[in-house]
Amino acid sequence: MTHDTDRNLQLFQRAQKVIPGGVNSPVRAFKAVGGTPRFVARAQGAHFWDANNKRYIDYIGSWGPMILGHGHPAVLEAVQKAAVEGFSFGAPTEREVELAEEILSLVPSMDMVRLVSSGTEAGMSAIRLARGATGRSKLIKFEGCYHGHADALLVKAGSGLATFGNPTSAGVPPEVVQHTLVLEYNNVAQLEDAFALHGKDLACLIIEPIAGNMNFVRASVPFMTRCRELCTQYGALFIFDEVMTGFRVALGSAQSVYAKAIPGFEPDMTVMGKVIGGGMPLAAFGARRAVMEQMAPLGPVYQAGTLSGNPIATACGLATLREIRKPGFYEALAAKTQKLMSGMKAAADQSGVPLSVDSEGGMFGFFLFDALPQNYAKVMTTDNKRFNALFHGMLDRGVYFAPALYEAGFMSAAHSDEDIAATVQAAAEIFRTL
Ligand SMILES: *Cc1c(COP(=O)(O)O)cnc(C)c1O
Repeated sequence: MTHDTDRNLQLFQRAQKVIPGGVNSPVRAFKAVGGTPRFVARAQGAHFWDANNKRYIDYIGSWGPMILGHGHPAVLEAVQKAAVEGFSFGAPTEREVELAEEILSLVPSMDMVRLVSSGTEAGMSAIRLARGATGRSKLIKFEGCYHGHADALLVKAGSGLATFGNPTSAGVPPEVVQHTLVLEYNNVAQLEDAFALHGKDLACLIIEPIAGNMNFVRASVPFMTRCRELCTQYGALFIFDEVMTGFRVALGSAQSVYAKAIPGFEPDMTVMGKVIGGGMPLAAFGARRAVMEQMAPLGPVYQAGTLSGNPIATACGLATLREIRKPGFYEALAAKTQKLMSGMKAAADQSGVPLSVDSEGGMFGFFLFDALPQNYAKVMTTDNKRFNALFHGMLDRGVYFAPALYEAGFMSAAHSDEDIAATVQAAAEIFRTL
């Protein structure tokens, strides 16, 4: 396609003049995979159409929120009705109460939630609350886990356990991350050493229980068990960042998956986003009552938002949650996801291409490795050239996977058997050339 006919390219060039890198969130720029980002014109069900009117099977779904597919009739109706009633009031509404009740009924580890507008905001506020509630400053995060772009969380590992992290972004002063300790995911020995050294000063430990920002890596059951035990022993709050996994991997979210393996398991705090907004800007954080009552206006931890609990976003989120709680929803979604993963695995096997796959509910990951990786360092040894060949081959064939090897994939209820068969077929063609 030439410049004269490629609307994606024209738009990308125009965008780069007025928006840094042409995008409003970096991964959209295709920097990792090269080529021209697809500018989305419209979407319906499991598909979207780009500016050239080419159709794609969408396995991003806005990075998770579109679990029902695009333009679900019940969600559209709720949003249209809410829009007519008013865009934003800066005063409480019944719908916020309904959404809070709905979330709490599905995730019983929380007694109260506060609604905000992005996962970043929710994660940042949860950390502030953990620090306020414990009167401590230090926190643990894991390499490869993303919790939004709050300053204190943009950190990579320091030179040793006794030293704290280094900023991963310019503009974050070292003093701001001096309390953030970055550990290797799934490394029990390192975790134990860190608690032995710093446990009494730790406000919290924050984790992606199934990490979706290093493709798809599960916290092992022994590792999760130790995280829980050590947080309890040292009085640090255990924060589950379920912005991606919340209502995505199961109706009870990732914590319900771990509760099956670890009797009585629950985190102290939960951060939610993505699916709970159904595609609108909405996120939340919650905990037991005694912790949440530390929040303003009841307690000393300040947090606020002009658009928090926005009436259109809450309508969209509520309508989405009411669909996903219907009987059999997750069984059907998980079956589709497994069908896609097993189909791709079989296709790779036929061509002798190493592929390992994993999925939970409607979230999946595949790696060009024989075995599933356990941490970020291993994920990042992926052969970039092979991954990019796979990505672009799929894109040419009308299948949209994440444009970076460290991102997960997302199935929706709208994906059909034909979509999955077409995806497997396309993958088989590419595996033969890898
Ligand atoms: C997406 C994501 C965030 C950040 O949410 P935004 O709404 O993009 O700010 C935080 N944590 C996890 C695990 C995420 O996947």
